[in-house]
Amino acid sequence: MKPAGIPSGTQSQSERTLRVLRRVWEVLEDAAPYEADCGDACSRRCCGGDEHAGMLLFPEERQLMERSGGCFTFSYNEDGEEYAVCSGRCSRQSRPIACRIYPLFPLPQCREGQTRIHLILDPRARAVCPIAAANQKVSFGFRRKVRRAARLLLTEPVLRDAYLKMAQPVHDLWEFQQKLGVSSRRR
Ligand code: SF4
Ligand code: SF4
Repeated sequence: MKPAGIPSGTQSQSERTLRVLRRVWEVLEDAAPYEADCGDACSRRCCGGDEHAGMLLFPEERQLMERSGGCFTFSYNEDGEEYAVCSGRCSRQSRPIACRIYPLFPLPQCREGQTRIHLILDPRARAVCPIAAANQKVSFGFRRKVRRAARLLLTEPVLRDAYLKMAQPVHDLWEFQQKLGVSSRRR
């Protein structure tokens, strides 16, 4: 029985956000740049950060990570955004979106009421990831999953706001690198 005052069928904002976030995680569950494990070739450089290198989280994402049994510490940056720090090892099912889409970033471009997704190699990854440093093409399946995940994020207002906010500095850096002639083409 529902508690008095909560109409049947009403979902809290947090539940709505979590529902979409779960779908995004599912879409990206097996996402990887190639069929072969690129980590074998580079000794998993993207997992080798220290306690200062964290992954920015989407709203409610911490809940999913905690429920999936991962071992993370959580904190906030000066803008009040939550991020997670890992030990350099995780069960794949507990990794956050930031890791699932790496080294791609789906750049949203809003024009005339429409939002289009342009996939780029994340300009922040150039210093770490050999794929990004060499402007290598990743698999079609990976690109399709990242694009689909980005579209899902845009369907839920809280996730959409967080996503657009996260995308701005990536866009600015990508544009800057384009001017220098070092950033990746659109994918
Ligand atoms: S750093 Fe790049 S190449 Fe290495 S494991 Fe991570 S995504 Fe793959
Ligand atoms: S959460 Fe997992 S995939 Fe992400 S950096 Fe840590 S060990 Fe690597």
